[in-house]
Amino acid sequence: MFLVNYFKDIYNALKSLFIGMRRTGYYFTHHKEIITQLYPENRLELNLPERFRGEVIMTHDDQNEHACTGCSACELACPNGTIKIINKFDISPEGKKKKAIDTFIYHLELCTMCNLCIEACPTDAIKMAQTFEHSVFDRAMLTKKLNKPDSKLRAGVE
Ligand code: SF4
Ligand code: SF4
Repeated sequence: MFLVNYFKDIYNALKSLFIGMRRTGYYFTHHKEIITQLYPENRLELNLPERFRGEVIMTHDDQNEHACTGCSACELACPNGTIKIINKFDISPEGKKKKAIDTFIYHLELCTMCNLCIEACPTDAIKMAQTFEHSVFDRAMLTKKLNKPDSKLRAGVE
């Protein structure tokens, strides 16, 4: 019985080795079908899948304006406290107080890229970027402020 199992194990090992090597041999002779990419050598022409999620960003236009009203819907939608919205009150030309975003804090180190914040935003102020080279020596650098310095809310966005 022992000898039967012994030779059976050898047979199964050789069989699995052969299956693996057959796949390797196939790609060795079919170069055009290789889908792996030579990274980082190809960094400039790197082609990521359209749905790849790298980090949450806030979009700004040429006038340094964004569409974030500070409504906090993204903060509430985030399941793990990755987003913290700090608001302020601006004074309108009519002298009225109006809530506005002061700081949009994003903890990249906590983000699971679930996309819930993006879906919750009523003004499309944030989106997923495809950046992915996030390695840093100091984890504090992964805490980001998404609204750019001196940026403001785009006119007409409520
Ligand atoms: S993608 Fe998900 S985890 Fe990341 S900030 Fe948005 S809601 Fe939070
Ligand atoms: S990013 Fe969107 S959901 Fe989040 S505070 Fe700004 S407007 Fe509200």
